[in-house]
Amino acid sequence: MLVAGVDVGSVATKVAIIKDDTFFFRAAPTGWSPRQAGAQVLQDLLSELGFEKEQLDFVVATGYGRVSLEYADKRVTEITCHARGAAYLVPGCSLVIDIGGQDSKAIKIDKEGQVLDFVMNDKCAAGTGRFLQVIAAALGNDVSELSELAADKMPVALNSMCAVFAESEVIGLLASGHDKGEIVAGLHHSIARRIAGMVGRLGPSDRVIFTGGVAKNESLRRCLEDVLGMEVVVPEMCQMAGALGAALIAQGYCDEGNSVKRANRKTMTSNSTLSDAEGYQNNIHDSTHVNKKEFEVI
Ligand code: ADP
Repeated sequence: MLVAGVDVGSVATKVAIIKDDTFFFRAAPTGWSPRQAGAQVLQDLLSELGFEKEQLDFVVATGYGRVSLEYADKRVTEITCHARGAAYLVPGCSLVIDIGGQDSKAIKIDKEGQVLDFVMNDKCAAGTGRFLQVIAAALGNDVSELSELAADKMPVALNSMCAVFAESEVIGLLASGHDKGEIVAGLHHSIARRIAGMVGRLGPSDRVIFTGGVAKNESLRRCLEDVLGMEVVVPEMCQMAGALGAALIAQGYCDEGNSVKRANRKTMTSNSTLSDAEGYQNNIHDSTHVNKKEFEVI
C-alpha cells in the first residue's frame, strides 16, 4: 500500500508517504502558489523513492492550501490531521499545541487522536511563525536562532503583541540598548501566556505535545512548560504532524477498502521551481526517511 498526506501550509508544504511499514517525509517552502508547492513536493518525494504518482492508493490533503490540490482523494481539516499525527508521534498525549506559520491552535484529543475540542487563533498574526520570522528579521537574525538568543535570558516586558506594533516596539527597545536575547525571551513569554489562555479554555490535560514549525524553538517550549506548569513534549517530526496525520487517515481509508488508484493524477506535475523568496531558510528540504516502528531517522 502506498499512501500520501500533503499538508500545504502558509509557510511550508509538508508531505508524508507511507509505504507498508515505513514513513518518508519531505518539506519545502510553499512560496506564492500552494497548488504548485503541493504538486511539486509530492512529486519530488515520489521521484526520489522511485514511485509513479499512479501507484498512489490514496492521497489526503490538508492545510490552508488543501482546496487547491485537485489530485487529492480527500481533503481533511488541519485540526483533524494534526490531532491524528500528534497522537501517533506521542502516544497517550491528551493536548496538542500547534503553532504554524499563520495560526495557533490547542486541541484536546482522545487516545486514538480523535478531536474532542479545540481553540484556534487564526484571526491575528501575533504569536505565529510568520510573526516570529518578522521579529527575527528586525533583529537581524533567522527564526532558527531565536531559541539560542533567548536561552537563560530575563524576559523584557512587552506591551504590544500585535504583529505590526510589536515590530516597532522591538526596534525601539533595541535602540534604547536592550539586549536582543531579553527581548526575544519577552516575546516568548507573551506567546506562552496567550497559548496558556487557549489551553485553559479546554480544561485540564495530563500530557502535552507541541507541534508545528515553531515547536523547533526550544526556548519557547521551556517557556510554555513554565507558564503551563507541566511537561511539554516536542517530537523530532514536530513540523510533520499534519502531513503524517493526513497520511495515516489515507491509510485508514485504504484499510477500509477505499483505494483510489488513479490512472491520471494529471494536475500533479509542475515544471516551475518553488520560490525561496521569503527567506525561509531552513534545512527541511531534504527528505527524511523514518521507520514507522522506531521513528528513527535512517
Ligand atoms: P505552516 O503549516 O503554516 O506552513 P509550519 O508548521 O510549517 O507552518 O511552521 C512554519 C513556521 O515554523 C515558520 O514560520 C517559522 O516561524 C517556524 N520555524 C521553522 N523552522 C524553524 C526553526 N528551525 N526554528 C524555529 N522556528 C522555526
